Amino acid sequence: MYTREQTKTIRIGNTPVGGGNPVTIESMTNTDTRNAAGTIRQIEALTEAGCEIVRVAVPDAAAAESFREIKKAAKIPVIADIHFDYRMALAAIEAGADMIRINPGNIAGENRVRQVADAAKAAGIPIRVGVNGGSLEKELFEKHGGLTAEALCESLAKHVAMLERCGFTDMLLTIKASDVPLTLAAHKILCEKYDYPLHIGITEAGTPYRGTIKSAVGIGALLAMGVGDTIRVSLTGDPVAEIRVCKEILQAMGLRRFGTNIVSCPTCGRCEVDLLEMAEKVEKFCDELGAEITVAVMGCVVNGPGEAREADFGIACGKGSGVVFRKGEIVERLPSEQLAEGLIAVIKQIR
Ligand code: SF4
Repeated sequence: MYTREQTKTIRIGNTPVGGGNPVTIESMTNTDTRNAAGTIRQIEALTEAGCEIVRVAVPDAAAAESFREIKKAAKIPVIADIHFDYRMALAAIEAGADMIRINPGNIAGENRVRQVADAAKAAGIPIRVGVNGGSLEKELFEKHGGLTAEALCESLAKHVAMLERCGFTDMLLTIKASDVPLTLAAHKILCEKYDYPLHIGITEAGTPYRGTIKSAVGIGALLAMGVGDTIRVSLTGDPVAEIRVCKEILQAMGLRRFGTNIVSCPTCGRCEVDLLEMAEKVEKFCDELGAEITVAVMGCVVNGPGEAREADFGIACGKGSGVVFRKGEIVERLPSEQLAEGLIAVIKQIR
């Protein structure tokens, strides 16, 4: 197993982040923030799916005004995402933001950054300092001969130092790139240098299929390094789809449990049943049940009995029939076509 990096604890609204607290799931709305009703609806859908912190872009004064209404309606902490105009940061803080995300490098002048830091401190909220591969300063790009881990870290260090000079240390840090090896290399440098909590993800990961894989590899590798206090999976499309991926990543890493862990084999030439149909039927039932159990659906006697016995519940198929397991014990032998229903009936007994 791996040891999580020791980071400071901050609070985003009422959610503790860092310091060994559970890794939280974040997403970002993609509605027009000026459309408060539409944004509130999307936050409700995200919350229902299991999102724990949401970020909302605040690009102009109308969006900042709408943000007030959004924040009042939201049942999870809301981060205001600010670029370029420090006045939007001040307006979002005044409107009740639980955190603001800024990139001090694109808010011209330390004096303006100081005003934002002072306002955040007075409101008692943290600032997320985020550096992104797509917006690296030109001089760092040239100095390092391109987009490198060192360039990203130098950019972030500059911004962190600016806030620290303002006497502000209630920070969450982010370095994101769309390239997985680059992201990993940057975090190796980053976690040697700071003990601020980290938000992690692979930015602009892509469309749902490729983006899911890229995010799982990148975020999984970072979590295995012990790095990461909040995560976001960035997929092109409806952000609600991001939440299930986040949950599966955290569950696969053994960091959180969100309902049932399904173990099912890929099948091979030994399998004599339609295992996909059986696994999908069992998975659908378990998703609706939402119980934190492990269920195995296995195609034959080679690995089936072993996996089914290790799980809380399981089936191991054979020639024309198979067995149902509960907590390591055989409960019954059934014809193949009754196995999925038989397993579901046994799981139902836990209610
Ligand atoms: Fe093949 Fe049996 Fe292994 Fe499934 S459990 S992959 S059917 S050997």
